[in-house]
Amino acid sequence: MNRHRAFYIGRFQPYHLGHHSVIQKIAKEVDEIVIGIGSAQKSHTLEDPFTAGERVMMISRSLEELDTTYYVIPIMDVDRHAIWVSHIRSLTPPFDVVYSNNPLVIDLFSEAGVKIKKSPLFQRGAYSGTEIRRRMLNDEKWEDLVPKAVVKVIEEIDGVQRLKKLSKTDSPG
Ligand code: NAP
Repeated sequence: MNRHRAFYIGRFQPYHLGHHSVIQKIAKEVDEIVIGIGSAQKSHTLEDPFTAGERVMMISRSLEELDTTYYVIPIMDVDRHAIWVSHIRSLTPPFDVVYSNNPLVIDLFSEAGVKIKKSPLFQRGAYSGTEIRRRMLNDEKWEDLVPKAVVKVIEEIDGVQRLKKLSKTDSPG
């Protein structure tokens, strides 16, 4: 019997409890999850501070207790939206449904004939990458907005210090 596999993509800068609750929900609906780390080529900017490898660690370690098979795959952007879905297909295990809330992602997959399910983030106000990065820069408490495994990864790579250094050199964008 064919296994149902879902695709979920985000930038995960960083991976937070909002993303985690979406993945827990998807895990109840399919057999396997393919998690795409979008904009994999980006790192060391205020908007995208963490490398693809660091984001792989955040996600893989957070999902260790999840009783579902998952694959975490970094995906670099391509400068032609028209070929983006084929680009993803060339890098990932086959999937039959995409979970997203991003209008462009939804349009590109719909045009390619892929089934889409909307996946709104839980408690959007706090569970937001932008809000977490803002708190890190301002010495506010951010640790309760991400899985414990992500706190450990960010400590291990000295992520808050990196962000603070970038705020002196990288223009906000
Ligand atoms: P994004 O552009 O990284 O995120 C846009 C905003 O949507 C962020 O504020 C994000 O919040 C938020 N968001 C993410 N998941 C959400 C959800 N389930 N419900 C409500 N808001 C949500 O977009 P993305 O959808 O997370 O990731 C799409 C990735 O695909 C990006 O890396 C993008 O560059 C890539 N892409 C590439 C191409 C191309 O290369 N041609 C085309 C289309 C898309 P958080 O910051 O809290 O996550």
